[in-house]
Amino acid sequence: MNNCIFCKIAKREIPATLVFQNEDVVAFSDISPQAPVHVLVVPTQHIPSLLDKAASEPVLLNKVFTAIQKIAENEKLEEGFRVVINCGENGGQTVGHLHFHVLGKRRMVWPPG
Ligand code: AMP
Ligand code: ZN
Repeated sequence: MNNCIFCKIAKREIPATLVFQNEDVVAFSDISPQAPVHVLVVPTQHIPSLLDKAASEPVLLNKVFTAIQKIAENEKLEEGFRVVINCGENGGQTVGHLHFHVLGKRRMVWPPG
């Protein structure tokens, strides 16, 4: 937790391009964007992954999805977008702090890679 890069971004200890912030959620541009809009939506609470009990807390999920709705509106994603949670090694998770990728402004393909 002490060494968590997303905790540090949430506490403004390291820089990021913030697009949304309140007490519970911070959102910033991904450093390695996979779409013209690629925002990471991160609960300020340190939750390691989707497997943690705290990740399914309804109050938290309401805050995250409300933030995503605002970001989608601000970024003008009315034509559609994708929300991704990578979980664990096979899921491709590389940062051990729960986060939601919001990808938009290009046509997504299915199945994902
Ligand atoms: P995941 O692979 O699902 O764990 O996603 C981690 C994401 O964090 C990747 O898309 C990285 O490009 C992104 N990332 C890592 N470090 C930073 C950083 N300092 N600022 C913004 N995005 C980052
Ligand atoms: Zn953290």
